[in-house]
Amino acid sequence: TIMQLHNFNSGPSILPQEVLEQAAAAIHNFNNTGLSILEIGHRSSHFVEVVTEAQTIVKRLMGLDDAYEVLFLQGGATMQFMQVPMNLLDENGLAAICDNGVWGNKAVKEAGLFGPVKVVSDTADKKHTYINKVLDIPSNATYLHITTNNTVEGTQWHSYPQTSALLIGDMSSDIFCRPTNFKQFDLIYAGAQKNMGAAGVTMVVVKKEILGKIDRKIPAILDYRKHIEAGSLLNTPPVFSIYVSLLTLRWIEAQGGLAAMEKLNLAKANLLYNTIDSSTAFHCPIAKEDRSIMNAVFFLTDTSKEEAFLALCKKEGMIGVKGYRTVGGIRVSMYNALPYSSVEAFCDLMKSFAEKI
Ligand code: PMP
Repeated sequence: TIMQLHNFNSGPSILPQEVLEQAAAAIHNFNNTGLSILEIGHRSSHFVEVVTEAQTIVKRLMGLDDAYEVLFLQGGATMQFMQVPMNLLDENGLAAICDNGVWGNKAVKEAGLFGPVKVVSDTADKKHTYINKVLDIPSNATYLHITTNNTVEGTQWHSYPQTSALLIGDMSSDIFCRPTNFKQFDLIYAGAQKNMGAAGVTMVVVKKEILGKIDRKIPAILDYRKHIEAGSLLNTPPVFSIYVSLLTLRWIEAQGGLAAMEKLNLAKANLLYNTIDSSTAFHCPIAKEDRSIMNAVFFLTDTSKEEAFLALCKKEGMIGVKGYRTVGGIRVSMYNALPYSSVEAFCDLMKSFAEKI
C-alpha cells in the first residue's frame, strides 16, 4: 500500500484530485476531439473557448465588469515585477511600494528601472513578522503596490489600504482564497501555480482605463494593450497551463465559489494556529491579526529539535513543510485544494511530537 501523503508545498502545490484526473484525460483526448490538449492549435475554436470560459469565470468570481480585462501571460509573477512599471511608470510618476518580504522587495528593485520609487512600508525591522498598515503615500504617487500575501514570511493583508493612487496587488499566493472587493484594485496579478493551476501561466486582471498614460515605447510582448487587443492570444500561449487553470476555476465554482473557499481556509488556518498557540513546543512570531491563512510560518521553541521534527514529518508523509531558506523554521502552506484532514493529520503529529520531547 502507498502511504497517504499530505502536500503542504508552497508552490507549485496541491491541486484538486478531479482537476488532475480531468487534465490527465485531456492529454489523451481533449473534449472528444480525438486530439490531445497538447496537440490542438491555440487559435482553434476549441482552445479559444478554453480562454474565453476561463476569463468569464475569473470575472464572475471577482465580480468584475467589462472595465477589466483578464490576460493569461508567461514569465511568471516575476515578469510582472517589471511589466507593471514598464506599462504604468515613467520619470514623471512615482511607484509607492510595500516591502513586506522577499517578493515585495523584488517589486521594488524592478520598478526602480522604470521610474522613481518610494518604499512606503519596510517591515524588515521585525523580520517581516507583521504588516504595517499606516502608509505615508505621497499625493503624486502613480500607484501603490502591495503583496497581498507574503508567501515566504507568512503574513497577509486582511483588508486593503485606501489610496487615491492606483492599487496594484501581487496576489500570487492568495488569489481566490476568499471573497473580497476586487474592484478596489486597478491591476491584479498572480502566478497560477498555487491556487489557480499549473506553473507556466500568470493571470493579469487589469482595468483598461489605466493603460496608455505614459510615452514609453513598449515591446509588443510586454504591452498589456497588445495582449488585450489579441484576446490573450498575441503569441502561442501556455495552452496546457491555461487549461489546468480553467479546470481549477470550474472546481472553485463547483465547490461554492470564494465563500466556500474562505470557509474551508479559515477552518484549516484556525485549527493550525490554535494548535501552535496552545503548545509550548511551537511558537508563531507573526502578529495575530496579520497571519496568513495560506502559509503558516512558525518555529520550534527549542530550535535544536527542528531537524528531528522535520525528519518525523518526512517519515509520516508531510510534504513541503521546511521553511524558506532565508527564514528557516516550518512553513505549512494550506492552499484551496488542501483538505481539512491534512491539517488535522499535521496537528496530530505536532501534538504527539510535543508529548515526546
Ligand atoms: N510573488 C509571490 C507572492 C510569490 O509567492 C512568488 C513565488 N511563488 C512570486 C511572486 C514569483 O512567482 P514566479 O515564480 O511565478 O515568478
